[in-house]
Amino acid sequence: MGDLVTMDKIVSLCKRRGFIFPSSEIYGGVGSTYDYGHYGVLLKTNVKNEWWRAMLQDRDDVVALDSAIIQHPHVWEASGHLAGFTDPLVDCRTCKKRFRADHLDQLECGLKPSKHPGEGPDCDLTEARDFNLMFETTVGPVKDAGATVYLRPETAQGIFINFKNVLQFSRRKPPFGIAQIGKSFRNEITPGNFVFRTREFEQMEMEFFVPPDDADRWFAHWLAERERWYVELGIRPDHLRLRAHDADELSHYSSGTSDVEYLFPIGWSELEGIANRGDFDLTRHAEHANEKLEYVDTATRDRYVPHVIEPAAGADRATLAFLVDAYDEEQVEGETRTLLRLHPRLAPVKVAILPLVKKDGQPEVAREVWADLRRRMQAEYDEGGSIGKRYRRQDEIGTPWGVTVDHQTLEDRTVTLRDRDTLEQVRIPIDELGDELERRLRAPWTTPKLAVGA
Ligand code: ATP
Repeated sequence: MGDLVTMDKIVSLCKRRGFIFPSSEIYGGVGSTYDYGHYGVLLKTNVKNEWWRAMLQDRDDVVALDSAIIQHPHVWEASGHLAGFTDPLVDCRTCKKRFRADHLDQLECGLKPSKHPGEGPDCDLTEARDFNLMFETTVGPVKDAGATVYLRPETAQGIFINFKNVLQFSRRKPPFGIAQIGKSFRNEITPGNFVFRTREFEQMEMEFFVPPDDADRWFAHWLAERERWYVELGIRPDHLRLRAHDADELSHYSSGTSDVEYLFPIGWSELEGIANRGDFDLTRHAEHANEKLEYVDTATRDRYVPHVIEPAAGADRATLAFLVDAYDEEQVEGETRTLLRLHPRLAPVKVAILPLVKKDGQPEVAREVWADLRRRMQAEYDEGGSIGKRYRRQDEIGTPWGVTVDHQTLEDRTVTLRDRDTLEQVRIPIDELGDELERRLRAPWTTPKLAVGA
């Protein structure tokens, strides 16, 4: 079951059903840039909302922030990005393509796609050189040196430079966290694999400030917590793993990092990084900005620079993982049924209301049901085409429940309620529908793909 899914199938379903399209398509597209359509927006919004819920609603030690994309250029000097946010780049003198030197074993040669760059008989690679991934632009009308700014390559620095504001205005003391969701930009040398790696993407990052002696304990806490989040939202545990970075992989700021990895069709790949950043960022900003960025305990007069644990996730990458994990095909009455077994809380549409036929008063009653349900959850009304075709469409966008209004509805005000995963249909009074669906939406959910060991 699980092995059926390929990246091509996901890309094609996303396009066919209006989740994600190649951007600027009418102009021939720009490489690895995508636009989200209606269902893609709903799905990604649900992913982000679940992240906010886990950070803000389910606990009381994290506050929210939305910082600017363009920040003072000194931010990136202090953070080390200007000097060190680079990837090693090689050019091929033969095919004129550029490759990330540390990813050659995952890339295709420009002339012979069955080979990796450097392996073909005509490959002629240059020495690797460092390429800074930050996008540069200028502020104001004059393009002089002082006007150079950068699009943020991560949301984290916006949090560190607001540490003092939050400490003062939200009356917090460590341990506490600041969470942010927003766009980040990286001029990736080799973007690709659909929305897995793009140059413009959304991050969900949280910086958790703790007393230095407690850092290891909180690091372990966040590893477990973040892994749990994916599993609770339906990702199969055997497709998820934590992988600790080796010493030579660690970023300049980190004393320990583990990645949450997912078994994508391209193999095990990073979904989220969880780092113990120590006091690196606050200390660097304190030096560069000449500000005291520390916590002073008013009772004990103790002062210290908090250490930071950072779970850094990608909203697009997480959305892709949920799509991949949910994708399924099964044989029903001799036909292939393609469906997304998404967690109901993530599903773009929770319920579809379908009159069996477009006459005999059924559309009117179905619209009534729709008007009632849509006040409580994302609901869709569809009367076009055969009932089978309408259900196929809802299955492919992952709608967990379908309500059919038929001739019996007009007699006794009951409808059939269909379950996407089991295909079970029960009859239920219209008056009970809303409560029943809300109950189902709140109930714990595990993917049926687990039961068959896929
Ligand atoms: P990678 O090794 O895949 O380049 P990274 O270790 O540089 O990722 P981080 O800086 O830790 O990534 O960023 C945190 C998260 O942001 C990643 O786990 C990923 O989900 C997301 N992310 C990073 N770069 C991209 C990108 N180019 N496109 C989409 N998502 C990204």
